[in-house]
This record gives sequence, structure tokens and C-alpha cells, in this order.
Amino acid sequence: MNFRAAVLHEVGRPLVVERVTLGPLGPHDVLVRLRASGLCHTDLEVIEGALAYPLPIILGHEGAGVVEAVGAAVTLARPGDHVVCSWNPHCGHCFYCDRGEPILCEVFTRTQPQGHLLDGASRLSLNGLEVRHFSAVSSHAECCVVHESSAVVVPREIPFDRACLIGCGVMTGVGAATRVARVTPGSSVLVIGAGAVGLNAVQGARLSGAETIIAVDVDDRKLELARVFGAAHGINALRDDATASVRRLTGGRGADYVLEAGGREATFRLAVEAARPGATVVFLGKVNVDQQVAFRWGSLMGEKRLVRSSYGGARPRQDFPWLAREYLEGRLKLDELITQRLPLEQINDGFAGMAKGAVVRAVLTLN
Ligand SMILES: [Zn+2]
Ligand SMILES: [Zn+2]
Repeated sequence: MNFRAAVLHEVGRPLVVERVTLGPLGPHDVLVRLRASGLCHTDLEVIEGALAYPLPIILGHEGAGVVEAVGAAVTLARPGDHVVCSWNPHCGHCFYCDRGEPILCEVFTRTQPQGHLLDGASRLSLNGLEVRHFSAVSSHAECCVVHESSAVVVPREIPFDRACLIGCGVMTGVGAATRVARVTPGSSVLVIGAGAVGLNAVQGARLSGAETIIAVDVDDRKLELARVFGAAHGINALRDDATASVRRLTGGRGADYVLEAGGREATFRLAVEAARPGATVVFLGKVNVDQQVAFRWGSLMGEKRLVRSSYGGARPRQDFPWLAREYLEGRLKLDELITQRLPLEQINDGFAGMAKGAVVRAVLTLN
């Protein structure tokens, strides 16, 4: 079988929408007919060359759709199920999976940089040449093949263009509050950066019962949106001394929890400066892996806990259905995250808008 996909052939060049060929399904494979897929900053990093992957590759790791076929050994999904893809499949029996840290699965961290599924191979080709999978999902296409641990069944009632967001940005932001920081009711939470992940960190803090939620950004429109998601206070770091403002709002101590989603040296520093003694700081943002980041040593004192998280401590098979229900029951905001809906043919326009910082989330509507 073959299907249309947006293929990256060369760093810095536009994606090419063309037909790729799908090989036979492996025993643990799930074939998903995609209905929607978000464009995430991590995809853009690959296009721009900040993240190196073997090419050609199909990007996209925030997908939702309907299961079309399953491999012989699959037990976790059935044809017809509505699924959200997780970009972190896990083998279930390596060193880390055994210790309850599937996010660090050794099989995934070995095969993922090669653009392969967990068995170390690709299922996709173009004119006889191998095409790589991105983060074991590759959802900028009409179909994708994922390991069964990546095909997470969600309620049918949630629309696909909303559901797909759960697979990366929503999980990462909400999970930073609920799973990583474990924000407690009545606490104060500072969220730095009000893009897709930061807005979800704000609503994760709200869902956790935080009393005071403070958002920091440099864009007043994003701070307005942060209020919609549950922040009581917005601080524009271009105009105000953010550390002093956070202290003023937290009895002079600093925030109980800091969820950093800015991805700059300055936002990493602000995160620890504005955290109270004993606070938990979660870094979600990232800079180039070879970049040095400097902290004032005194800002790290006072028994602070510093954690870096890529996926908000995701346990997809527990968290995705929960997040879908929170949306369906009106407690989780997803509609407000979507700035733009695009067909697959216009994917390059979506990334151009993202590069300009003009969108929270652009979503491809497929099939
Ligand atoms: Zn992502
Ligand atoms: Zn594993």
C-alpha cells in the first residue's frame, strides 16, 4: 500500500508531499489512518537542522486517527479504535522499563535517533529507498505505523484535531504539573513561557488545584491567553523585573513550583531565581545540547529540586484517556490552542508561521 506524506529530504528545504510505500506490518505494529496532526517545535528543529536525523524522514509526532490494521501479536488496539499517538513507545522489559521509567526505554533511545521503530527497522520507502520514522510516529502523512504501546485508545467523542494535541504539547505541559512537580492544592505555581507547552502547564496547575498561578512571557497576547487557561497574574519580562514581581505575589518567598517552558538561558535562570527555598523547578524548554547554561550558584541553594522533563512524565495509557475526558467534561481547554488548521499540501506554510512565532498550534486536518 502507499499513502501521501510530507517528506523532508534536505535540512532547510521545504517538505515535499509525495506518495510513500508501506512494507508489511511487524507483529507489534499498528497502522493508523490519521485524521489530524499538530506541528510541534521539535519538528521545526529537525527542518532547521538544530536536531540531526537521518534523511529522508517523515516528521510529525502529534497524531490522532483510526486504527486500520494491526500486527499478529497486537493486544492493545483493534481496527476501528480511535487513537492518539505517543512519541515514546517502550519495550516493557529493558533496564528502565523494568524500573517503571518507560520514558527512558533503552530500546527506544537506541532506535529513535536512527529513525527506526523499536525493532530497528523502517516500514517506509520511496522509489525503493528507505524513509525514516520520526520519534517512532511520523504523523505528517495520511497514515502512520507505530508500535502498539504508541497507539493509545481514547474516547470516540473527542474530535481528532483536538485529540492529536494531547500526544505532545498537552501531555508535556499538564504532566509537568501533575506528574513531575506533583503540584499540591493551595500552592503557588510560576509558569515561564506561554506557548503551547506553557499554556498547558498553566492548566495542569489549575487542574491540580493551585491557588496562585503566575505566567511570565514577553508577549502580551500570550499572557492574555495564559489568563484564559487559568493564570491569575501575567508578567511581561520585557517591562517588569520578573523575579521581584513573583516574590511580591508569593509573600516575598518565591513560587512553590516553577514550570519552565521558555527554552532560553534567561528563562532557565529566572526559573531558579524565582523559586522559593524547597521549591520544585521543572525545566521543559531546551537549547542546543552543546550550549553552556550558567546559573548564579546562590540561586540553586535552599534545598530546591531541579528536574528536566521532555514529556511531562507521561504514562500515555493512563494519561491520554484522562486528558480526553477532562476535555469532554469541560475542564481541559484544547480549542483555544489551535491557531490554524491546514491541509497536508500547506504544511510548509504552517511551519513558516511557527518560525515567526505567530501560532500557538497549527494542526493538519487529514483524510
Ligand atoms: Zn512535540
Ligand atoms: Zn524498554
